[in-house]
Amino acid sequence: ETEYIRKPEWLKIKLNTTQSYGNIKNLVKGNRLNTVCEEARCPNIYECWSERGTATFMILGNVCTRGCRFCAVATGRPTELDLAEPERVADSVSVMGLKHVVVTSVARDDLNDGGAAVFAETVRAIRRKSPGTTIEILPSDMKGDYESLRTLMDSKPDIFDHNVETVRRLTPRVRAIAKYDRSLELLKRVKEISPETPTKSSIMVGLGETKDEILETMDDLLAHHVDIMTIGQYMQPTKKHLRVERYYHPDEFAELKEIALAKGFKHCESGPFVRTSYHADEQVGKPQTQ
Ligand code: SF4
Ligand code: SF4
Repeated sequence: ETEYIRKPEWLKIKLNTTQSYGNIKNLVKGNRLNTVCEEARCPNIYECWSERGTATFMILGNVCTRGCRFCAVATGRPTELDLAEPERVADSVSVMGLKHVVVTSVARDDLNDGGAAVFAETVRAIRRKSPGTTIEILPSDMKGDYESLRTLMDSKPDIFDHNVETVRRLTPRVRAIAKYDRSLELLKRVKEISPETPTKSSIMVGLGETKDEILETMDDLLAHHVDIMTIGQYMQPTKKHLRVERYYHPDEFAELKEIALAKGFKHCESGPFVRTSYHADEQVGKPQTQ
């Protein structure tokens, strides 16, 4: 009796493609890189790549040691650590002429440092080749290893993201291995290491959470000094993934944004297509210097 609720009108958009979009796609493929924009079939890809000069690279491979039930990335045992990846990402950022880049990774629980050294080197390589580009990082929780967090923070990102993804109650159902409180703690530690670095966290709605639970999540994030929150509609990547419990109306997203700002977030993006990296270029000042 599983009945899938139909996608509402506001979620049906056409993907625009252009010459520059196609060129970027080939470049990313030629450099054997992975972008979240493509992997997650993000509906904002045209706007981000062609108009905004933003992209989200996924590093440390495309096989994740975790299997979160909302995520389309393949789960398995990663076989290699590609030490040349930082330079290839940096080359692509430079050729694409990105104004803002987001670097994220799969969870590499197979590595002692969770991949932090290669992650930090990627930030440095981008900075060397594109000093005018702002860099945002979205790492895994590195199982709460704060040495690895320091390694990452030493690379001086312009924004640090870590997503709680959902409300406290649904966390064990939605995320694998990650814990709600450990994610909050990680965000707080970033501020302890580097108080001036803006921090950001995102949730998806439509997984069965209540409005009160969303508001509680806002309070939890604020209590851990998070500056920016993004809220987007969960969309089921395949039939094997968690199903959508509810589609929120654009007006509800607008209301959540108002609440978030009134509670004290410095920025909030909230809308059906909002992803962590959506409009991120507006949330950051000038690039850090190294
Ligand atoms: Fe890529 Fe993020 Fe833009 Fe989506 S919103 S296309 S993932 S940069
Ligand atoms: Fe996807 Fe990240 Fe979960 Fe891995 S840890 S399955 S990449 S959301």
